[in-house]
Amino acid sequence: MTRVDVAIVGSGPNGLAAAVTMARAGLTVEIHEQAPAMGGGLRGEALFDSEVRHDLCAAVHPMAAASAFFRAFDLEARGVRLLQPPIPYAHPLDGGVAAFAYRDLAQTRDRLGPDGQRWYRLMAPLVRHSSGVTDFLLSGQRSLPADPAAPLHLGPRVLGQLLRGNGLRTEAARALLTGVAAHAVGRLPSLPAGAIAMLLGHLAHASGWPLPEGGSHRIAEALADDLTAHGGVVHTGRRITDLAELDAQVIMLDTTPRGLLALAGERLPPRYRRALERFRYGPGAAKADFLVSEPVPWADPEVGRAGTVHIGGTRADILAAENAAARGLATEEPFVLLVDPAVTDPGRAVGGRRPIWAYAHVPNGDTRDPVPLITRRIERYAPGFTDTVVAARGVPASAYESHNPNYPGGDIGAGAITLTQSVFRPTPAWNPYRTPLPGVYLCSASTPPGPSVHGMCGHLAALAALRREFHITAAPRLEPGGGPTPTENSSTPTEEGRRAS
Ligand SMILES: Cc1cc2nc3c(=O)[nH]c(=O)nc-3n(C[C@H](O)[C@H](O)[C@H](O)COP(=O)(O)OP(=O)(O)OC[C@H]3O[C@@H](n4cnc5c(N)ncnc54)[C@H](O)[C@@H]3O)c2cc1C
Repeated sequence: MTRVDVAIVGSGPNGLAAAVTMARAGLTVEIHEQAPAMGGGLRGEALFDSEVRHDLCAAVHPMAAASAFFRAFDLEARGVRLLQPPIPYAHPLDGGVAAFAYRDLAQTRDRLGPDGQRWYRLMAPLVRHSSGVTDFLLSGQRSLPADPAAPLHLGPRVLGQLLRGNGLRTEAARALLTGVAAHAVGRLPSLPAGAIAMLLGHLAHASGWPLPEGGSHRIAEALADDLTAHGGVVHTGRRITDLAELDAQVIMLDTTPRGLLALAGERLPPRYRRALERFRYGPGAAKADFLVSEPVPWADPEVGRAGTVHIGGTRADILAAENAAARGLATEEPFVLLVDPAVTDPGRAVGGRRPIWAYAHVPNGDTRDPVPLITRRIERYAPGFTDTVVAARGVPASAYESHNPNYPGGDIGAGAITLTQSVFRPTPAWNPYRTPLPGVYLCSASTPPGPSVHGMCGHLAALAALRREFHITAAPRLEPGGGPTPTENSSTPTEEGRRAS
């Protein structure tokens, strides 16, 4: 093996974002991925029918449409079309009714009944300051916000979600917002879940909740193409079991703290090792992929125009289900997220067959087959769904780890989203990406700003390593065709990254 400047373990969006950032700085970069295909949470596969592709993990990309890393990388300019669903998300309720978040905030207000104006007042300031709000929440959380209005608008709203459901009074609006908070996959209500509700909630009315045309793997391909265009290499089917297998000046780990412990073990100072061992993992996801013969027969047909559907009942139902999963209690009525990608991207349906992506929040390590569980949840709001199913495959929470070691017990957040672990992720440190081992960095969703496909963990970790290990202080250009070598004057997508390093 030839020595490289940077070896990266793992090719998820954060590993790829770190790789692109460092290759753009003129360094030699090599990625090692244990799976047969690169992309981590962005992978897709034809599961039942060679023509119909299913997203194995991530499907919907509000964060990739909004994060500073991807704004600078510019997916659209690279031919990745981010398609906007007619309605970003919907929340069916009993009795054949549903609540909707439309892309247009005024339309949402007009369709949300007595809570319409309250919803408008909640979201409008965040929409006006969308990039400030997004950059503040998707940061290393170690620097002052570039837009001081962002925390001022966020503070009372996040607290309001925790204390009173933001003053929303109707069952429909309360459920609609709580369904977004449930993306935190953990105890509800909580401050981190409130922040996620405000981030994702306002993005629906700003840059949207798009799906990449063709599937999520298109995002991984665009990142890998840029990496290879700048001299980088991705090796698949190679699991790294010890850091000693890598010959590089710097090692970036797109792994959990558990992964770091396995790779470095006794070489880590005991205090840091104990801190990593204390890192907590959250509830699990249990995923069902369906091949169906027609669109989901929702009782309220308008739900069929939504990119994402939250199945969880009322706010009280969602709180009960999420808190049970967080306590390790299996329920028959878990919170479920469902996406019918062909609603947004008709090309995903081939020959009268379409993929349905759905997962339930369950206790960490839950062994139940999610197919019957999720089917029952869908049937409640879409009677007759079962008759449309041609084939189905379930991945219990307990099995996720064998597909991707970054999801222990099915924790797709690579670590619980608690207040402490939102900031001190994975350990209390000013630079959360550095480890005590010289030249070894963590860059996965187990570091700030946490899970989702935004690339910011990888990008910020790379900026920290560039500065400390290579004395490169300017953030490299990321736009298509941008040169590999940074200059002090180059435009930087994330000034905050420099300060965090
Ligand atoms: C079912 C599901 C649905 C999701 N839905 C969405 C969604 O719709 N939108 C969204 O934004 N996010 C979603 N997510 C979350 C998102 O996929 C993750 O937050 C994101 O992929 C994390 O990126 P990462 O680079 O940190 O890690 P990952 O994407 O998990 O990648 C880590 C990679 O490292 C590899 N690896 C680990 N250890 C080793 C080793 N020792 N040797 C070699 N390779 C190794 C793994 O195989 C993997 O490919 C979902 C996740 C799941 C599982």
